[in-house]
Amino acid sequence: MSCQKLYKFSAHQLREKLNSREIKSEDILLSLSERIRETESKVKAYVRLNGQNLKFSSQTPAKTDGLLNGIPISIKDNICTEGMPTECCSKILQGFNPPYDATVIRKLKEAGALILETKLNMDEFAFGSSTENSFFGVTHNPWNLACVPGGSSGGSAAAVAADEAIAALGSDTGGSIRQPASFCGVVGLKPTYGRVSRYGLIAFASSLDQIGPLTKDVRDCALVMNVISGYDPMDSTSVNMAVPDYTASLGKDIRGMKFAIPKEYFVEGMDPEIKNIFSEALEQIKKLGATYQEVSLPNTKYAVPVYYIVATAEASSNLSRFDGVQYGLRIGDRGQVAGDRGQSAENRLIDMYNKTRGEGFGEEAKRRIILGTFSLSHGYYDAYYLRALKVRTLIKNDFDAVFKDFDAILAPVSPTAAFKIGEKASDPLKMYLSDIYTISANLAGIPAISVPGGFTKGKLPVGLQILAKPFAEEVIFQVASAYEQATPWYNEEPKL
Ligand code: GLN
Repeated sequence: MSCQKLYKFSAHQLREKLNSREIKSEDILLSLSERIRETESKVKAYVRLNGQNLKFSSQTPAKTDGLLNGIPISIKDNICTEGMPTECCSKILQGFNPPYDATVIRKLKEAGALILETKLNMDEFAFGSSTENSFFGVTHNPWNLACVPGGSSGGSAAAVAADEAIAALGSDTGGSIRQPASFCGVVGLKPTYGRVSRYGLIAFASSLDQIGPLTKDVRDCALVMNVISGYDPMDSTSVNMAVPDYTASLGKDIRGMKFAIPKEYFVEGMDPEIKNIFSEALEQIKKLGATYQEVSLPNTKYAVPVYYIVATAEASSNLSRFDGVQYGLRIGDRGQVAGDRGQSAENRLIDMYNKTRGEGFGEEAKRRIILGTFSLSHGYYDAYYLRALKVRTLIKNDFDAVFKDFDAILAPVSPTAAFKIGEKASDPLKMYLSDIYTISANLAGIPAISVPGGFTKGKLPVGLQILAKPFAEEVIFQVASAYEQATPWYNEEPKL
């Protein structure tokens, strides 16, 4: 059966083939394994693969009628999987095998999905926009191997684009699902804050993080959301609200809908090609019977600084738990390091912390810990952190005002298409500034998707972003699906 190239199909197409007994789940696994063997040496989307065969979690037999029954799902390396390595692509978590599953993993398993034991590459602790900050090395963009796949869920996006995954989970703190989805030409959704449980997601910035799907099409995205969404008592920020059937929004027309275009997004630094592609997408939206109008989100100019204060402050606090005692790496314990035998126990402990954190964290993680510790420190807290929180509220208010009059906001995902590996690696500020269109959604807690929206002349994919008010994922799916059906972008494939 694997001669059918099953790896090319989406999850919902494979579910149909499984239902009609045309194929068995093992056929999909075989086909996917073959594909990974064929292309992974070029893409490097997975980590700890070591040339071995793929391993999957075993299926729960009682759940064979689940929505994702028999479908393999690939997971970003920061989502806990019981007994399977989960290292956030950081040296400091080397050898960490969580004793429990994240809620999203439990839900996927209950829906019959098969979880890949081999995880997907990412920027260390999800710090980055290019996957260049991974301890395991960079992932390559399947559309152009010299380019980054975006980040931090670069492995997830590249694997889906290269047909090395049927569907994947990523996490988005400031754009880490949407920007790589845009760079790799796949669908990626950041749900409303509180819609999907964060229990078992290794925290970067707890007030911004959300887990979400990266998929081949909008229907798969809705399908995965049906499975992973919902209230979880294990996450105190999870919201107790009924989850609609997101697939019910697909295929509806968008006639008469009103969209807002934030004028502040069309500023210096935006590649003219991106602007053209976005204008063409708007034309398409108009043809579908909807209207759009320019609006103002006046506090957009503060989004990048506010995000990098809030996110690094929370990260510095979250990362303090990695001290060599409880998780993963430990260096310099019990006087094992030459020359420290004469030290007091206390000094040896401090020494162990220093060595473990010094060697365990990469450069970007250290930069963020230092920045975050600084803005939280006595004397600077009011001037930086507290002020950032106040401006965050203003940013949220800007969105609330727009959603009073409009169904959704349309925007680009990133000011450029995928850039070359190494191009921004030595200039963190340049890298941070490229997050301008994605981070506001996290600061405001609203849902946003990236769907394929066109190609540059150099044949790199470019995403269209659709943002809606809190818990209006249904609106996002309706618009995304109408746009998807009216455009040819999904028929294109990277040549690998
Ligand atoms: N690029 C942003 C950052 O580096 C967002 C990362 C993310 O969403 N995890 O913080």
